[in-house]
Amino acid sequence: MQRALVLGALIVIGGLSLAAYQPPQQQGPIVVTVEKVKDNLWVLRGEGGGGNTAVFATANGIVVVDAKNPGWGKPILDKIKELSPKPVTTLINTHTHGDHVSGNVDFPATVDIVVQENTKANMEKMPIFKESGGKGMAKRTFKDKMTIGKGADEIDLYYYGPGHTNGDAIVVFPALRTAHIGDLFAGKNLPLVDAANGGSVLHYPETLNKVHAGIKNVDTIINGHMPTQTTWADLKTFAEFNQDFLTWAQGALKSGKSAEDAAKEWKVPEKYTGYSPNVAALFGGLPGRLQRLQEEMKK
Ligand SMILES: [Zn+2]
Repeated sequence: MQRALVLGALIVIGGLSLAAYQPPQQQGPIVVTVEKVKDNLWVLRGEGGGGNTAVFATANGIVVVDAKNPGWGKPILDKIKELSPKPVTTLINTHTHGDHVSGNVDFPATVDIVVQENTKANMEKMPIFKESGGKGMAKRTFKDKMTIGKGADEIDLYYYGPGHTNGDAIVVFPALRTAHIGDLFAGKNLPLVDAANGGSVLHYPETLNKVHAGIKNVDTIINGHMPTQTTWADLKTFAEFNQDFLTWAQGALKSGKSAEDAAKEWKVPEKYTGYSPNVAALFGGLPGRLQRLQEEMKK
């Protein structure tokens, strides 16, 4: 799992509020690396930076998806200047987490910031946007779908229901058959579910299935934290993996096992090659996920 998140998890263990998760302090220098995905689409990464950032060059300007940990906004903007002389016009955040939105505060006030409406409500609770006096906060929201631009510049934003949080946007570049899916699909392992920000263990597989069935003509996925892109077929496998986990977990809890006891029995089914059995400790690890599911099953 992502080192930043695992480090963050250490802060959370020990009974602190799960909502208190904040990205860790930067260890070492900030170095932004660039991977060209298509002629006018890049992914920016960096050790300790947090979530993957997408940079999409349109005819009239640059659209950025996610802005990483505190302190990374300016380095992202500096790197973009090396890629294109065009101005940054738009910033889209896939969800509320600090390792995806904190760099927002360094973006010029002229930049349009777009998020799913629940994500805006979640961001309004974050200290970083109180400290910035609202700079970097979302300006425009959508509920289920929004289209920005047209033709080669079109970007489609979708929301299909709760998963990692209750505001996970999928950002599609249709002309490039590519999507940034944020942390809905962050790695080949059990995903993090942030209950304090409306994430759902119960609805996660259903949301993934809706994404996979509802969005057409995407081949390439930029994932929240993975070092390489995945395919639309990989998303289908990830949805099945989550469905199998949910079926197992519901069975274990219905048989009367405690979340702690059930957690000891979870194994990655053999057919999911390349999937890690490790579960990030953040948000209570595997017992925390099972407790969340238990609460959701009672509703
Ligand atoms: Zn996240």
